[in-house]
Amino acid sequence: MSFTIFEKSSKGRSGINIPKSSVSKIKRLDTNLLRDNKANLPEVSEFDVVRHYTKLSNKNFSIDANFYPLGSCTMKYNPKIQERVAGLDGFSNLHPNHITNNQTHLIQGALSSLKTLENTLCEITGMNAFTLTPQAGAHGEMVGIMMIGAYHKKKGNKKRYVIVPDSSHGTNPATASMVGYDVITVKSGLNGDMDLDAFKNAMSDEVAAVMMTVPNTLGLFNPEIKQICDIAHSYDALMYYDGANMNAILGVLRPGDIGFDVIHLNLHKTFATPHGGGGPGAGPVGVGKKLKEYLPDLRVDFNEKRGYFFKEVNQNSIGKISPFFGNYIVLIKSLVYMQTLGREGMINTSKKAVLNANYILAKLKTHLKAPFADTLCMHECVFSAEELTKKYGVRAMDIAKYLIDFGLHAPTVYFPLIIQEAIMIEPTETENIDTIDYFCKKMIDAVELAKLDSKAFKEFPKTLPISRPDETKAARNLNIRWKD
Ligand SMILES: *Cc1c(COP(=O)(O)O)cnc(C)c1O
Repeated sequence: MSFTIFEKSSKGRSGINIPKSSVSKIKRLDTNLLRDNKANLPEVSEFDVVRHYTKLSNKNFSIDANFYPLGSCTMKYNPKIQERVAGLDGFSNLHPNHITNNQTHLIQGALSSLKTLENTLCEITGMNAFTLTPQAGAHGEMVGIMMIGAYHKKKGNKKRYVIVPDSSHGTNPATASMVGYDVITVKSGLNGDMDLDAFKNAMSDEVAAVMMTVPNTLGLFNPEIKQICDIAHSYDALMYYDGANMNAILGVLRPGDIGFDVIHLNLHKTFATPHGGGGPGAGPVGVGKKLKEYLPDLRVDFNEKRGYFFKEVNQNSIGKISPFFGNYIVLIKSLVYMQTLGREGMINTSKKAVLNANYILAKLKTHLKAPFADTLCMHECVFSAEELTKKYGVRAMDIAKYLIDFGLHAPTVYFPLIIQEAIMIEPTETENIDTIDYFCKKMIDAVELAKLDSKAFKEFPKTLPISRPDETKAARNLNIRWKD
């Protein structure tokens, strides 16, 4: 079987059939504009091309085709109505240069959608205002920490540190460091939550912010979170909420109500827009009263006289952080998702996401060690393959590779870093019990096979052209060029 389209090439074969031109040739291109060598394109028929790309598309693993239980990444079904609406001419064919106030009369509908989205996000999170322009979670984090920096600078506060728990997503310390802070990492206690005494010891007048993910990356809700906010505020440190995965608390808890000053959301996780492979995403950032004046540029406002228009930038704003209006179409898709579900629908989303994760925890914890199995989890659950590794040499990665052959995307492995041989599973609310049961069965089969025939494991996956690449080399020396 030929694999690349070049192997299908046959001299003289063509996919186009254009009638002879009746117009006479005009002057040839200048020779300095011509290429030195032939382009060496494959000579194939139209059918060859269609089959080639259809086959390639089937090699992609996607949420539309398979279960994708990636913890801390929320890969859920994306309702097709989002694509339909976002694809409407009035949204998808807008010219980006309309974002000036002398053009806003042409885009009132688009602006009203953005204002509705901002209001909805404020309602969901209990925050005061949102910027919609950051283009990813990590980008939102940077915006949030930059605003915190601007706040302290204006007050004349001398701040050096940002506190993160050791279970945090890597983007948290990376962001703090990029913005110029030193990072203090606070360890987790035996219950998986940030150790309160260790946190108190780390706090000082020099702490600018505390970045928390709630529930954290172990899928646990910290019951001391309100107290942590109060302690931080007593030092005039601001509370940052990493809201990348809001599936667990949507419609149940509002971070603004418990004292958080700033939050980023990953619309491309919680609010169902397709993601993976590097984008595109949207990471809106919401703020409470303390940070409102620092919000980045391009925010939409409304009054009876002017209709929708772009707000005057506040002189304390951190400036513009995205070209045009960020990933505008992603914003529209998420708004459609929220409006399709409505209030009740969103509350049910969290309830079902949490139920599904607990169902998996309950089903698998007798087969695989679950470090925090005696409490309920939230939207995701974490297991450890450490015992299988010690006894049989089978690692979390081996289980991940095994699942691939059964049409399942691997869960997140080796994260959070504080759990040895971690396997982190987030089923989301969109999967039904049959799919989840099938996944659990394959996980249990994997554990059983580890005990019976651990060597067999090293051969999985058997169904793909590439089985076990050297992952470091694949990342560092990636070469995907086809050569003759
Ligand atoms: C995904 C994620 C991020 C980063 O979001 P990106 O859009 O990938 O930049 C940050 N924090 C947590 C907890 C996440 O799960």
